[in-house]
Amino acid sequence: MSDGDVALGLVRHVRQTVTCSACKLLFRSPCLLPACLHTLCRQCIPPVDSDCEGSQLSVSCPQCSQVSITSSPDGQDALVKDYFANKLLESIGHLLSLNLCEF
Ligand SMILES: [Zn+2]
Ligand SMILES: [Zn+2]
Repeated sequence: MSDGDVALGLVRHVRQTVTCSACKLLFRSPCLLPACLHTLCRQCIPPVDSDCEGSQLSVSCPQCSQVSITSSPDGQDALVKDYFANKLLESIGHLLSLNLCEF
């Protein structure tokens, strides 16, 4: 394996790390779901569900279906901003969003 192959594998891996499983694009405002710690774009987090009495609000992860409990109707309090993904995107997002088809 040449150095080029190693670099290529690394780029692929990093790109996968900062790609949303729902929209298949680089994260925009990445948020963690607390139950499973999957990261999604803020706008890819599904709408909040309530149980039949409407007493418990929850958000289910589109990636693994684990349910995170929330107390606010917009699910905001259940979400944790993913600082790591944010930082990664800040530093290399512009590189990853270039056309890398040749990779
Ligand atoms: Zn997304
Ligand atoms: Zn999940």
